[in-house]
Amino acid sequence: MAGGGIFAPAMTPNTQSAVPALDPKAVEKFVSETWDKSIVPSITEYIAIPNKSPAFDKDWKKNGHMDRAVELIAAWCKARPIPGLKLEVVRLKNEKGEERTPVILMEIPGQTNETVLLYGHLDKQPEMTGWSEGLGPWIPVMRGDKLYGRGGADDGYAAYASLTAIEALERQKIPHARCVVLIEGCEESGSYDLPAYVDHLAPRIGSPSLIVCLDSGCGNYEQLWGTTSLRGLVGGDLSVEVLTEGVHSGDASGIVASSFRILRQLLARVDDPSTGVCVKDFHVEVPPDRLAQAKKVA
Ligand SMILES: [Zn+2]
Repeated sequence: MAGGGIFAPAMTPNTQSAVPALDPKAVEKFVSETWDKSIVPSITEYIAIPNKSPAFDKDWKKNGHMDRAVELIAAWCKARPIPGLKLEVVRLKNEKGEERTPVILMEIPGQTNETVLLYGHLDKQPEMTGWSEGLGPWIPVMRGDKLYGRGGADDGYAAYASLTAIEALERQKIPHARCVVLIEGCEESGSYDLPAYVDHLAPRIGSPSLIVCLDSGCGNYEQLWGTTSLRGLVGGDLSVEVLTEGVHSGDASGIVASSFRILRQLLARVDDPSTGVCVKDFHVEVPPDRLAQAKKVA
């Protein structure tokens, strides 16, 4: 569970002296208690729901796991005592009239005109293999202070962490920006439903001055980690066909082009196999300050 939160980022009020100072000890106490007593039990239930991303569960709608996960998280969120909190489960249809994966949208009024957008997702990666004895994707197990199972850290915790951070500020009467929390259900499939929701919800989201994506990794549990950039990903199916029927290698090699070599050459046009450098259209120079940061972290 990567750490995250919003501690008054772009929220500097005009009258510095009128702002109560944040009491970090009280925040820590509140956050720890909320995690232990309320969030961990809810995420434990969440882990048991096999709500795989649609790419790994074509029948996600019929199976109902996604809806169960939405209900569980939405119910927890709705019950938080955050003044003015509005929650809506938004459901759009695609061009074919099929239901898109749902989105949970939450709006929390703030004390400034600025908007902070907090993002997470509730769909999960598939089961995969290699689980240790006694563990499994849909079996929540607490060992020591770690909760094992699929989806708790990626990315079920996002909604809980977002609201808990906001509630911590509310409790200490720390002014904060208007917050919008958006939890999608399609991330592990490439977020193909997300653009339609962002377009549809644009008037309600507004123009965020800060976007917090709670969906990354952390190097340890000692400090707050932030991801400055991620390498992109292109997915697709590539097939190379050179013959309509099989012919003996002794007859055809040297006459028919090697499908394997064609495939390698096509791939090499996108990404240099020896260096990993992408073609111009996909390539960006890494800025020097990012390189310096990476060196420091390493
Ligand atoms: Zn994720």
